[in-house]
Parts: sequence; C-alpha cells; structure tokens
Amino acid sequence: MGFELERTLEECGALTEGHFLLSSGKHSDRYVEKFHLLRKPAVLQDVCSAMIEKLGGTRIDVVAGPTTGGILIAAEIARQLGVRAAYAERADGGSLARAFRRVDYFEPGDRVMVVDDILTTGGSLRETMDALSNHDVELASVMVMVDRSMGRTDLGFPYQALTQMDVPAWDPDGCPLCEQGVALVKPGTTQQA
Ligand SMILES: [Zn+2]
Repeated sequence: MGFELERTLEECGALTEGHFLLSSGKHSDRYVEKFHLLRKPAVLQDVCSAMIEKLGGTRIDVVAGPTTGGILIAAEIARQLGVRAAYAERADGGSLARAFRRVDYFEPGDRVMVVDDILTTGGSLRETMDALSNHDVELASVMVMVDRSMGRTDLGFPYQALTQMDVPAWDPDGCPLCEQGVALVKPGTTQQA
C-alpha cells in the first residue's frame, strides 16, 4: 500500500515537533492537530480510501462516527462505499454520553462500521458503540485513522488503525526538553505557555 499517513500528516502540518504542553498537563515532543488534515477534503478523501482498502471486502451498510472528526470520516467513507452515514452526537440527557439523534439512521440488521480520527483512550469510540447498542444493528468493523495507544486499547471489539503513533507524554518533572531548557508551547496557539 503506497499510502503513508504519517507523511501525509506532516505534509499538511497536522504533525509537528517541538515542546508541547498537552491538555493533560504533561509535556510531549510531538503534537497532532487533526484539523489541519480534516480541513482539507481532498486529503481526507485519500485517507478514507486507505481506510476502505484496510477494510477489505467486509460488507457495510452504514458508516457511523462521533462528532466532530468522526462524522467527517464517516461521511467520506460512506460516500466512497456508496452507503449511508450515521452521526453520533452528544446525548441530550439520558444515561448514554452519545446518541444517534435527529433521524432514524438505521434499518434492522444493518451492518455498521464505526470510525473515528484519533484513538487516545477510546472514549468517543466506546460512546459511539454504546449508542449503537440501542439499535437493531450488527457491528461489522471498528477503524481509526491514528491509534495513539499502540493497539493497547480494549474496546470489547477488535479494531483496526490506519497507523499507530507513539506520542510520548512526560510529567513536567521528568521532561527531557525542560531539562534542555527548550521553550514550552501550548498547542493551538503560537504563544509560549
Ligand atoms: Zn517539558
């Protein structure tokens, strides 16, 4: 397969190297800003083609994803497969975190592919799978663009990833870049933290 996601992420500025303050409070030497990729539909089209290639011949009726990146990927994969898409949004009350609101997305027995952009802890994927359990459908595939957990996440269902990416996260005390005196940057801004 000729498609290299990591190179694509670098080319569109989504993968940067430096000294970053993560939202967890930890420090890292790499940062992924997925919206640099998601804002380029032609690049997203190529990424989704590669995900379809990875899917093999598995029959799918609906491609489902969580807001925000997941629904863009779900819509593009569904467009290429010629099937329907379904969008898992934040639930409006109730016991579940996410729900397929607005319309009846599913028909009984639909084979569903669940997709998302970046898997870190698997939270939004789990919420999407939980929301699916309210519907009379069959889970046929789970796939992410980037797996930052290096295959270590247990979703209770086998999943595939277009690429795995080990992004280090150090406590400030043990950060080698702090030790070298490299200026810390808060991603999403051009300011120093
Ligand atoms: Zn640091």
